[in-house]
Amino acid sequence: MTTTLLELDGVGAHYGRIQALDGISLTVNEGEVVTLIGANGAGKTTTMRAISGVRPISSGSITFDGTDISTLRADLRVVRGISQAPEGRGIFPGMTVLENLDMGAYSRKDRKELPAEMDRIFELFPRLAERRSQVGGTLSGGEQQMLAIGRALMSKPRLLLLDEPSMGLAPQFIAQIFRIITEINKTQGVTVLLVEQNAQQALSRADRAYVIETGRITRSGTGKELLADPSIKEAYLGVA
Ligand code: ATP
Repeated sequence: MTTTLLELDGVGAHYGRIQALDGISLTVNEGEVVTLIGANGAGKTTTMRAISGVRPISSGSITFDGTDISTLRADLRVVRGISQAPEGRGIFPGMTVLENLDMGAYSRKDRKELPAEMDRIFELFPRLAERRSQVGGTLSGGEQQMLAIGRALMSKPRLLLLDEPSMGLAPQFIAQIFRIITEINKTQGVTVLLVEQNAQQALSRADRAYVIETGRITRSGTGKELLADPSIKEAYLGVA
């Protein structure tokens, strides 16, 4: 049976007079990996911020697990199970890997479970385990990205929001990050909404996908369908 975990219905968002989102409607079902692809400035990051609650919406509604969370504070959305690894990583550069991970667990009451959670994250990212005492700001770009994802996982989310996890990474790191996203989804049962410029990788990993253009959803389908679509190929996959 399909259970809808997240639903956006006609969501609008503005920055002053600039309309960044113009009626976004999409759903993410429990257990899925869904990707949002689109050109620069299309509204991908704003959509993620609207879902995590750091950007207020000006119209429409956001429902999570059957509850309208449109006006719920961002920190209370984390408590409900929504966690975001933001674009540009956003780790705490002066804190160690361990301290950064600990910050990700601020919303959890079951503190006794945290060491086991950290062990799971270190299994996913052995590189972070080796560098647990190193300060975040001295990690490589790829390692910082892993830390941002690890920190987001520390809140034990039901829905993980990943904004451009492959941005600025070397090819071997890109492949590794996508493998890990699949693993988080399959073995830990975390539902994933993924924003990506790297449409090829994102579509091949995603169950379903949405295309966003100037603040509106213009296409949707399975990852495979969109990968095979000539107009998508031309616009987003660099193939004429
Ligand atoms: P990119 O792939 O380049 O990160 P995006 O699809 O994530 O782009 P958004 O960052 O959501 O796009 O931006 C959507 C629109 O909102 C753009 O026109 C952008 O210029 C505008 N915008 C985003 N952030 C702000 C801001 N802080 N102030 C004003 N306008 C903004």
